[in-house]
Amino acid sequence: MNESLQSLLTNGGESDILPGMDDLWLIKIGEITLKKGNRAYFERLLKENIRKGISQAPSCPDGAAGGQVTIRSGRYYLETPLPEDEVIAVLSKTPGIVSFSKALRVEKELPALIEASKDIARTCLNEQIGHRFKFEIRRTDKSLPLDSYGYARELGSMLLEALPDLIVDVRNPDFTIRVELREKAYLYQHQRPGTGGLPVGTAGRGVLMLSGGIDSPVAGFLMSKRGLRLTAIHFHTPPFTSPEAHDKVIRLASQLAPYCGGLTLYSIPFTDCQVKINKSVPRASTTLHSRACMMQISELLAERCRCGALVTGESLGQVASQTMESLAYTDGSVDLPVFRPLIGMDKEEIIKLCRKIGSYDTAVEPYEDCCTLFSPDKPLTRPDVAFERGVYQDIEDLEFLMEEALKSAERTDFDSHGRRKVKSC
Ligand code: ATP
Ligand code: MG
Repeated sequence: MNESLQSLLTNGGESDILPGMDDLWLIKIGEITLKKGNRAYFERLLKENIRKGISQAPSCPDGAAGGQVTIRSGRYYLETPLPEDEVIAVLSKTPGIVSFSKALRVEKELPALIEASKDIARTCLNEQIGHRFKFEIRRTDKSLPLDSYGYARELGSMLLEALPDLIVDVRNPDFTIRVELREKAYLYQHQRPGTGGLPVGTAGRGVLMLSGGIDSPVAGFLMSKRGLRLTAIHFHTPPFTSPEAHDKVIRLASQLAPYCGGLTLYSIPFTDCQVKINKSVPRASTTLHSRACMMQISELLAERCRCGALVTGESLGQVASQTMESLAYTDGSVDLPVFRPLIGMDKEEIIKLCRKIGSYDTAVEPYEDCCTLFSPDKPLTRPDVAFERGVYQDIEDLEFLMEEALKSAERTDFDSHGRRKVKSC
């Protein structure tokens, strides 16, 4: 054994895991690291979003922080006494996080490192993950006496000595013990995937048009992970649409809320506008005009909520109202940019994402939607934009009905765990 290694083994240092009642979670970020001048802003928002999610966890007492988040050299550390499943629920759904692991923090000395490694290996053996392992060392502290390979070699042989059932297999291990040597040593095995993307709020605010279908929750998810803070709007047409159909949308919003750091849904009674449109325009163009009307009401809401964009779940060519000409028409009915993150995706890709965010089973419940209820048998697919604009402008009192609809909105707030409280506005 060389001299520096000897000093590592004998130079005191605690061999125990560093004290602290709380669990430690190590959080990795991705795209934020590409930011240059404004990186601190992105980091601060992510920290706030994690803190908010943790403070709203079901077992966190009201008013308590629930944990502490620190950022050091591009790594986030969360210390929290909260149950593992609640922490996982927050970290896996907070945009900006690429992966996270429950970690052990110890002093950077071999006795402490090997004790922590044994803990991890024993857990893997107990959970029957397998016997083949390897070490992966990341040595940020360049003042340490061994290089990464040296640590892997020493720790590997010490671990084999302590737990002879294990086998080193660097090519095809059943588990990997990851060791990060920073201002302290951090050891962990399982890396859970995060959502990726950018922290919610870094890209501004947008209004998500949330129907009861598969597509719009996915569109919300995708824009949320590009950093947009969302407010959702839903149009329903009672008594033609049922309370069950509305309840379905409430549940979809609740499922989406954790990815958005909380969400407010405005449910708009659209019946009077819909009836007026149906009476005023040729049957084939009713869907087109009601979509334009929904977009204009969404824009009015956007102005009031200081949102700078609309988001829809439209995908090119999926239905009549989503042809290039129809999209050109509805786009032109509002001034705000319309984000359509699904525009180039096919249904299978969208369904896969819908399952991933946990909304699929709800989205396919067979409740009627105002678009399907009022849709004509032969909808217009290639509208003449200028002509249809004229038809729409001639609908009497529509602006008044739109204002009335917005005034009668019902507001539902969801926290970052999808729990709701109802307010009227
Ligand atoms: P989805 O699966 O999201 O319902 P879809 O394939 O049924 O979409 P459309 O009904 O044409 O397509 O709706 C296209 C988009 O318009 C939706 O993704 C949504 O953003 C918006 N939209 C449609 N109906 C409503 C509604 N009732 N309330 C709010 N937004 C709506
Ligand atoms: Mg729909």
